Amino acid sequence: MHARGARTRKNLCFGLTRSIRRLEVARAVRSRSAMLAHHTREVLLVATIKVQRDRLFRSQELRPLSKDTRIREVDDVVIQVTQVFCPKGHNLVNSSRGQFEGEGGIWLRVSTEGLSGEVVLSPFHGDHRRHGFTEFAEGTRVQIACPICGTPLPRLFKCSCGSGDMVALYLTPDLDDGRVVVLCNIWGCHRSKVFDQAQLLSAYFEDDELADSGEDIAPILSFH
Ligand SMILES: [Zn+2]
Ligand SMILES: [Zn+2]
Repeated sequence: MHARGARTRKNLCFGLTRSIRRLEVARAVRSRSAMLAHHTREVLLVATIKVQRDRLFRSQELRPLSKDTRIREVDDVVIQVTQVFCPKGHNLVNSSRGQFEGEGGIWLRVSTEGLSGEVVLSPFHGDHRRHGFTEFAEGTRVQIACPICGTPLPRLFKCSCGSGDMVALYLTPDLDDGRVVVLCNIWGCHRSKVFDQAQLLSAYFEDDELADSGEDIAPILSFH
């Protein structure tokens, strides 16, 4: 009786240990596959985003990134914006309007005197893919506005292309003008910049600006 009781307890102990071990193994396998899936996704993301990396300048001094912007680093060069706001506070990163590698794009209304349409831009800085209405002729000056409230994006300063103005999308819901994405309002001009804490975080340059390699190009956000 005594011996049986001890054996039962022993078996129970073994049984419990086995179950705990099984649980631990299952947990380890789960977290490893989650890690692998995450890693695979990151590798795929880096491979599929079409960015001319030599034209993209990333400031390395600005660390850590401010949390409120929710800017995500894809790798050392490319960043992704996961939220941008119009001057009235509408978040225009919207995955139901268009996705890039499964991530929500930046939803905008773009118009000229005669044409108007909705466009979704890639949320990866330096990736020029866009969905939606793209009937504008290259070089046309367009108005860029919030598709929800129609408010035009504010013009901050002249673009270095010489013909356009840089317009801003805010990276934080409190519309901090030191944390913005700026885009040129000339259709087809890809010069764009991302500012965090009023400092240049990431900039896309065209050929003629490469010689400067970012060193001399407005490190501080200025409102001309
Ligand atoms: Zn709006
Ligand atoms: Zn421009």
